[in-house]
Amino acid sequence: MTPFDFFESVELPVPAITSEQARDIAANRFGVDAQITALGSQQDANFLLHGASGAPVGVLKIANPAFSLIELEAQDAAAAFILAGEGIRTATNLEPKGVPPIAQIAEEGPLFARVLTYLSGGSIDENIFLSPARAAALGDLAGRTCRALATFDHPGVDRVLQWDLRHSNRTVEVLSPHVTLALQREAVESAAASAWQLVADLADDLPMQVIHGDVTGDNVVCDPGGMPDGLIDFGDLTRSWTVSELAVAAASILRHDGAEAATTIPAIKAFHAVRPLGPAEVEALWPLVVLRSAVVVVSGLQQSSIDVDNAYATDSLDSEWQTFERATELPLDVMTGQIRHALGMARPDEPMTAHAPLIADLDAHDIVALDLSVESDAVDAGAWLDTDCEDHLADNAITAGAAAVITTFGHTQLTRSATLSQTSPATVATGVQLWPAAPLTLAAPWSGTVEAAETGDGAMLSVTGTTGTVQIRGRLRLDDSAGQSVTAGTALGTIEGPVWIHCLRHPHPGNTAVPNFVRPEYAAGWLDRVSDPAALLGLPPTPAPPEDSATLRRRRSRAFAEVQEHYYEHPPRIERGWREHLIATDGRVYLDMVNNVAVIGHGHPALADAVSRQWRRLNTNSRFNYGVVATFSERLAATLPDPLDTVFLVNSGSEADDLALRLAMAATGRHDIVAVAEAYHGWTYATDAISTSVADNPNALTSRPPWVHVVPSPNAFRGEHRGLDAAKYAPEAVAIIEGLAAQGHPPAAFIAEPYYGNAGGIALPDGYLRAVYAAVRAAGGLAIADEVQVGYGRTGRWFWAFQQQDVVPDIVCVAKAMGNGQPLGAVITTREIAESYRTQGYFFSSAGGSPVSCVVGLTVLDVIERERLQENALTVGDHLKARILELATRHPLIGTVHGSGLYMGVELVRDPTTLEPAAAETAAICERMRELGVIVQPTGDRSNVLKMKPPMCLTRESADFFVAMLDRVLSTGW
Ligand code: PMP
Repeated sequence: MTPFDFFESVELPVPAITSEQARDIAANRFGVDAQITALGSQQDANFLLHGASGAPVGVLKIANPAFSLIELEAQDAAAAFILAGEGIRTATNLEPKGVPPIAQIAEEGPLFARVLTYLSGGSIDENIFLSPARAAALGDLAGRTCRALATFDHPGVDRVLQWDLRHSNRTVEVLSPHVTLALQREAVESAAASAWQLVADLADDLPMQVIHGDVTGDNVVCDPGGMPDGLIDFGDLTRSWTVSELAVAAASILRHDGAEAATTIPAIKAFHAVRPLGPAEVEALWPLVVLRSAVVVVSGLQQSSIDVDNAYATDSLDSEWQTFERATELPLDVMTGQIRHALGMARPDEPMTAHAPLIADLDAHDIVALDLSVESDAVDAGAWLDTDCEDHLADNAITAGAAAVITTFGHTQLTRSATLSQTSPATVATGVQLWPAAPLTLAAPWSGTVEAAETGDGAMLSVTGTTGTVQIRGRLRLDDSAGQSVTAGTALGTIEGPVWIHCLRHPHPGNTAVPNFVRPEYAAGWLDRVSDPAALLGLPPTPAPPEDSATLRRRRSRAFAEVQEHYYEHPPRIERGWREHLIATDGRVYLDMVNNVAVIGHGHPALADAVSRQWRRLNTNSRFNYGVVATFSERLAATLPDPLDTVFLVNSGSEADDLALRLAMAATGRHDIVAVAEAYHGWTYATDAISTSVADNPNALTSRPPWVHVVPSPNAFRGEHRGLDAAKYAPEAVAIIEGLAAQGHPPAAFIAEPYYGNAGGIALPDGYLRAVYAAVRAAGGLAIADEVQVGYGRTGRWFWAFQQQDVVPDIVCVAKAMGNGQPLGAVITTREIAESYRTQGYFFSSAGGSPVSCVVGLTVLDVIERERLQENALTVGDHLKARILELATRHPLIGTVHGSGLYMGVELVRDPTTLEPAAAETAAICERMRELGVIVQPTGDRSNVLKMKPPMCLTRESADFFVAMLDRVLSTGW
């Protein structure tokens, strides 16, 4: 029989084989006695074979009778070839002894069966999110498959398949009648026709080889980390364009939750790294993705119409249509431009030049450029959120004397961004907006044809010359030049108010308009279509936007010690903050759930103003006599109960804790310190010594110096004693303290966070500190409360976390929140303990307690009071906790929610009984949350707690956004 030709046998119903028959075939033809489970397939009949233990032993495949023996032999040979060549796991013939690998099972016709090895690991469920790393792994697998098959050949590969994109135009033509809705049919036909036109022109330059033809989520198997590393189902093996292998893989990515064209870029880059794409292949790639998606839609509808019982075919219809819509969302040239940029193959950007000024009566020197970027001072204090921000700033510039004001071409405009958005907003300008101070005369910048039309809010005018089109839209009064051919310099109308100016390059494929603003993911592609209008106004070319996040990160790692780690593998470049939001230079606004330091919020104008005033007036050290150091010390001491009335001012939490240790040692004349496991207290020599967290230092527990004594972490969720049993931690710690005293090493102090921040925001067991403080005091030592993270109102119910335990420490350390990010720390203790420091000399910190630091401290306290932030932490925190607890009823991954107010930890576990920490999941969830616009990070010794300690001005709406995004990630994958 000759190899298959789809166009001669268009209908391919799945062979009707029952599970019973399948069991007989496996037993009688291959000697495999097995239990049978039917597997889905669009064209073949596939069955999973289980052994007596239930473990899979192989897969029985009964090929569609349309396929000949030689084709099946080619497929099995290719699978073995890829395994040998690239080490990619493939399903190869099981070859039971003495039995030919392929059996003809129907005497009357060619129905062939074979048993292939079963590959563990499972495919990638299309309903879930595909992370950039997994998308890249899919692209890499497709690339390696092509690399392996580059030298493979077999007589069974020359077949005519509907899946071979060389025939995609014909396939769509033959099968599109199955798309019953006329609008949808027209959309598929016209998208396929435009894509085919481009591909046909490139066809002669597209390299060919044998390809697998279906490297998709369905046909891969994954390693234990979920990364595709194996390939099954060689049924679409054919000779075709090599780039088709990638197009098919890329199209399959579009089926996943939240995927869009840009989601395929990591796969395309990974493929290119293994099997570099040539220029023609780059141009053909996205048109082929569109063609593949069209073929999949029409084939799916055809299959479900001829094979109504094929659930596999019918269930996929929605996602197939979604793939098509996502593939065609952008104009072909825009996505191709974007791919070119991603692969470093961008075309040189030649600016378009004018032969006459676009605005005859405007001197370039009188034009003021309006900087609306993320780093612009003009958008401080949340001004970017005002809907009339741009007009208002332009008016100000005009009032200050500008003849016209223009925005910046190709740059990000923060004014176009939004908070709480799960996709990136369109922030990159493809043209410029111009505000005139007085009416200006518009002229043709080059010879060409004029088009003009009145629009609802003004008019549109364009002049098309040989190199491109200039288009002006907005408050225009038109002269009567529409349809005319004009020479450069001809007056065309009057600019009476704000207008948009676009320079569109030729050729301008398709007739889709260029939006004024585009999303950063596609900016490079859209900007290929346009040119900088600056030249038309006599202005110098617009400077390039600031370096991107990847370039910055490389520069940072060259100059900045890398042991100072950064969040995220590919961190966004954050250059602005506002309230509970952090803003990247591409205009993406992230909800900041981790910045416990910025209690009053980012970019607070009251703080900026107060600091700026104090800097202009005085900044010096606390050996001078100025008022604010006394005022701030009084204010701080007043927040604490008696006898804590004496303040030291330093610059950080580490310094505060270090000083507390020295005070305790000075006051007691001893050197031993008792600390709890799972703790972090700082980076200085002494505070590092008492830090026991293995997340911060994997060797922490084995490398503590002899003067540090560690008591068990009083973790009531997953420590040795859980729930009510957690009451046992206190007597255990007391016994250790008493033991030390008995051995002649009574401790100078016991130090702990009074609410366990580093362990994930866990409340200490009731009565814990009361018992332990009593024991350490009984042994002549002091009680130190490290309030660096948990103090200052964050827990909502208490200003100081030790109040939750109903105790009063001897020494309190605070930092972080005190300065809202400005280096500021304090130790507050009794006069007597403070005085004991004199035995060590006198205390001086050059910047600690400086006028600027004290003003910062005072202003933060003022804002916390004035804006009732502790109260907000309580109400919004309680709301947030209740909503996450509700999520926990639906998502078993949430083991528990620790914390109080706006200090919370969501602990993720794989099993509610064993509490196996879900560390890999937590990391991946944080990555996806960032894609959805939320910054949240793992914490705890097992890195399985989502730490949630946002600025205390977090709104209920922001809390709800967080919950919605977490719900989405937990529901659709990470
Ligand atoms: N103590 C605790 C509980 C902390 O969380 C930290 C910082 N993470 C410190 C002390 C050290 O503070 P800093 O980083 O300001 O030195």
